[in-house]
Amino acid sequence: MIQRVAVIGECMLELQGQAFGPMTQTYGGDTLNTAVYLRRCGQADGIQVAYATAVGEDSLSQGLLDRWIGQGLDTRLVRRIPGRHPGLYMIQVDERGERSFHYWRDTAAAKAYFEVEQTPLEQYAEEFDALYLSGITLAILPPAGRERLFALMARMRSRATVVFDNNFRPRLWPQIQEARDAFERAFSLATVALVTADDHQTLWGLPTLDAALTRAQDLPTPELVIKRGAEPTLVREAQDPSRWLTAPTERVAKVVDTTAAGDSFAGGYLARRLAGGSAVEAATFGNRVAARVIQHPGAVIPAPAMADLL
Ligand code: ADP
Repeated sequence: MIQRVAVIGECMLELQGQAFGPMTQTYGGDTLNTAVYLRRCGQADGIQVAYATAVGEDSLSQGLLDRWIGQGLDTRLVRRIPGRHPGLYMIQVDERGERSFHYWRDTAAAKAYFEVEQTPLEQYAEEFDALYLSGITLAILPPAGRERLFALMARMRSRATVVFDNNFRPRLWPQIQEARDAFERAFSLATVALVTADDHQTLWGLPTLDAALTRAQDLPTPELVIKRGAEPTLVREAQDPSRWLTAPTERVAKVVDTTAAGDSFAGGYLARRLAGGSAVEAATFGNRVAARVIQHPGAVIPAPAMADLL
């Protein structure tokens, strides 16, 4: 059975290398990573993934679209806004191999996705079985756009799966209270929440990870998944809200790069869940996918490196 998932967020251009030296260009963004892994993990089960964002009409924007199509994503929910451009980030690598990040995303096209009477996502929402967004999606949208997204979540949640992943980047939120309010709204509108305990701790300024765990277990989202890095994942299904189950993580001898660990977990989790697996089965699979991804450099690892999992 075909299942359609809409993933909304921002994908940026990425430059990586030495300042005033050679740089390689690619692209990245949490929701885009999730969309790619979801497509890979769900393709055999008929899961189709559409990425909803805005880009410009320039050749770099076209280059992004071409690459997303190359990853098997549907681009009909993408808006192209004349005069706007994708956001950009640069990863500078110093002599010791330490990486530092710089961002140019304040005027990125993706922020303006909802600045139109009706977005393609709102227009075609009824055709989708699931919607996925993250805390970064909320962060980049201006308040009016965020409200439109909340309205869409409210509209879809009665018949579709609405997934919120709590990725939290403090620097994207000038006012912490605004972030807390937005996250609370999203947790109450989602049907599935994927929670990283670390991010929950930072958002609420909690003293310990344990305090964050306890607090996360009280979230109102019916299906709740709490990720804890190498520690087993905690899972609660909507049918049995008082019962917490655990899903094992994989033992990874050498972690190479944890970029996209949570994003790839989300892709694997949703693929299994939408294909009919239980939350524990889905989390176990998500952990296998994430364990593979952190053994390779970069956010999106080559497809052959995970072929045996699919
Ligand atoms: P995020 O990337 O969202 O911050 P986590 O750090 O909780 O999330 O990790 C997400 C997933 O990545 C975990 O649920 C687990 O599957 C996997 N993972 C992360 N670190 C490790 C590790 N050291 N060993 C095994 N799996 C890991």
